[in-house]
Amino acid sequence: MHAPMFSLEVFPPRHNAPVGAIYDTLDGLQGVDPDFISVTYGHGSHKDHTATARIARTIHQEYHIPVVAHLTALYSDAAMIDNALDMFEQAGVSAVLALRGDYIDGEQPVGQFEHASDLVAYIREHKPDLTVFAACYPEGHIQAASLDEDIEHLKVKVEAGATHLITQLFYDNDDFYHFVDKARSAGIDVPIEAGIMPIGGPKSVRSSAARNGSRVPERVETMLNRWGDDAATLREAGVNYASEQITDLVAHGVDGIHLYTMNHPGRTRAIWRNIQPLFTKVPSIAPVSSVSSAA
Ligand code: FAD
Repeated sequence: MHAPMFSLEVFPPRHNAPVGAIYDTLDGLQGVDPDFISVTYGHGSHKDHTATARIARTIHQEYHIPVVAHLTALYSDAAMIDNALDMFEQAGVSAVLALRGDYIDGEQPVGQFEHASDLVAYIREHKPDLTVFAACYPEGHIQAASLDEDIEHLKVKVEAGATHLITQLFYDNDDFYHFVDKARSAGIDVPIEAGIMPIGGPKSVRSSAARNGSRVPERVETMLNRWGDDAATLREAGVNYASEQITDLVAHGVDGIHLYTMNHPGRTRAIWRNIQPLFTKVPSIAPVSSVSSAA
């Protein structure tokens, strides 16, 4: 049995911080051994659309780690997508995570790419050498009428050419197992990496749950209620919770773990210390015949 994949996600520094601030995150992640790091993409008129490519280049050229660049569809036309893809290629990215993106209040989508599957198909047609990843939702996307309907749309995305899926965060592994069973039954057979977000402060957990329509299980609510005013203890409990989630997922044969670092290297390193043995790449044992012939 081979080890599952392990990857990290970072985002371009926010709030007008210089893009160079990403070095604090990347330096802090030294010692963690991901198969790739993905870099998010901010869309809308107020975002710097070159930040993802610049950080991707840094990760690829200076840290020598394979990199996956996120790209969103809603607020881009074909020329903007072409430009981003050219920048990604020059930065040495290994794959593009093709997303629709969320609607922004007061900004009109361009209208060329309505769903992520449109962007997946466009990339496959115009840059056939680029590997395309896509997102998926163990509890169903918030705008989907049902999980079954969302999985039907996911299937379209995979048929358009997405060869690897990464999930939205979830706190209850049973939701993930249920989703994977349904996706496999629907004929989706590409690897599905489980997205794990270490529990942050009560405000951020609840607002992201509301935004994504995801469930906060009772056990997590209890932790938030008990240690919501004690950041250090909640952080420690969050590290343990994420480590337990990952251990259970690996025991169940998950294809991979995608850890949302939220640019917090300390928390990421603490989780990595707990889970590292699960990702050790064990060399396969030589078949008996080759052992005896070598003797
Ligand atoms: P889609 O696959 O287009 O799905 C969106 C909705 O449309 C779903 O309800 C789906 O069921 C429905 N749908 C899809 N296809 C069809 C169809 N053919 N007909 C009718 N309905 C359809 N956002 C960012 O802005 N930047 C990022 O870097 C970023 N990274 C992310 C990384 C991951 C791993 C995940 C899980 C999400 C990320 N997001 C990011 C958020 C993402 O943009 C939002 O979740 C967005 O609302 C949906 O994007 P999608 O690519 O899944 O969209």
